[in-house]
Formats: sequence, structure tokens, C-alpha cells
Amino acid sequence: MRVLEMAPELPPYEVYAIRYATVERRAEENFIGGDPHTGGMTMDYFIWVARNPHHCFVIDTGFNEKAAARRGRIFLRSPEESLRHLGIEAAAVEEVIITHLHYDHIGNFDLFPRARFHLQDREMAFATGRHMGSPFFSRAYEPDEIAAMVRYVHAGRVVFHDGDAPLAEGVSVHLIGGHTHGLQAVRVWTRNGWLVLASDASHYRQNLGEGRPFPIVYDVGAMFDGWRRLKTLVDDPHYIIPGHDPEVMQDFPAPAQGMEGFVVRLDSKR
Ligand SMILES: [Zn+2]
Repeated sequence: MRVLEMAPELPPYEVYAIRYATVERRAEENFIGGDPHTGGMTMDYFIWVARNPHHCFVIDTGFNEKAAARRGRIFLRSPEESLRHLGIEAAAVEEVIITHLHYDHIGNFDLFPRARFHLQDREMAFATGRHMGSPFFSRAYEPDEIAAMVRYVHAGRVVFHDGDAPLAEGVSVHLIGGHTHGLQAVRVWTRNGWLVLASDASHYRQNLGEGRPFPIVYDVGAMFDGWRRLKTLVDDPHYIIPGHDPEVMQDFPAPAQGMEGFVVRLDSKR
């Protein structure tokens, strides 16, 4: 089913991917059932921004240098610093969308003291529920970060969504599940049509493109359904942006000099 509506009247959003960390992995670690290639396959770590003159959404918040050291990742540059290169002060940001509560997507939440956090009901239930007793499901969550998010719930700073929801004209969240029970993707209207930030619904283009799931997964069937869903949310699959794929940095240009290797503009023509 195609769900392409008329273009919203509002000015389109600029969308950026900010690369803040990286790690070298073996290709077979990125696919259930392994991979015929035995070589390396880099995993990059991103946060994203969607903004127009009326709204500024930060999507996920990344992790910090301490978490990188603890988990053996190479920290490149604080997401806060890259946001500043785009003219965005983290401390002033009011809207943060959390695709899911894994450590590499919600560390640094304390850099956003004014923000409200958009989250799926199902993700909070999952991250505080029965499956967290099993390391298979809990190892990508940091209990202290989940506890902090629970405190934000009680402080009225978490906006819960149950399924698909518009956040503004031209920006909506879409419950995908699969990787975690409550993972959501973000759809954004841009000068080049609809764009979807898939986050970890597809770590790499190959996961979705070749139908090969990433091994950290709650529900493999939901992951396949999610890929089908993502494809209905865009005109051109080029604009389904995977969550951890280093090729994103090659597929799209830096928005300005001095940002090469750290920031790319996703609403750019092929
Ligand atoms: Zn991730």
C-alpha cells in the first residue's frame, strides 16, 4: 500500500546525519546466519536532525566518551559539538525523538535539559519489563539510562505514542518494532520528497535490501514487516536512511566545509 500524501504546505525540512562514533566489526556479526564475506564491516553511530524555520527535532542523542570506552567503541566527536556546527545548541532543543532506548541512542539525554522526549509506549514497557532479565535482550540497554528516562516520565518530559503519530506537519513517527519491541522510525518531508530515518529497523542498507536481519532482534517477523512498511513511506528507497551504515557518509554530501566526516545532509539529490 502506498501512503504518499500531498506535500505538506509547510516549508520542507533539512535533514542531517551526525556521525559521532565508529567501530570495526566482522561482516558475519551483522547478519543472522553470518555472511559469506569474512572481512571487516564498519559500524558507524549517528544521531539525526530535522529542522525547518518552524521546528527543530533532534532524533536520538548518541552516547558519550565514557560509554564509548566502556563498550570498546571509537568516539569521534561529541554530538553536541556537531550540533553546534549546525547552529543548534543542545541545551535549547525542545523536541527529541527517541527511536528506541538502546545505549547508543539515548546516552547524552542530559545535554537536552529543555527537551521533551517522544517515545513509543511499547519501548518503555519493553525496557522495563520481563525480558530485561535476559542478557540477550538487555545487553544494549543501560539500566541507569532507563531509570533516568523513568524519572523523566514522572517529570512530565516524555511524550508517549502508541503506533503512528504526527508530531508536526511533515514529521511523523511510525511504530516498527522488530529490533526492539517499540522501535519507531521517523518520516520527514523534504525538498526531495519523503525521507525515512529507519534507525535500527535496518542497521545497514543490506539488512533491508537483501532481507537479512541484524542479529540483535526481538521479533524477526516484525523486522521483515517493518522493512515492507518503510518502503511504503518513501517514493525512493535511497531516502530510507539506515541506522548504522558507513555508506551514508559516502551517499550524501557534507553541508559545508569543516563538517566532512562528521555531518552529511540527507535531503540532497542523488
Ligand atoms: Zn543502534
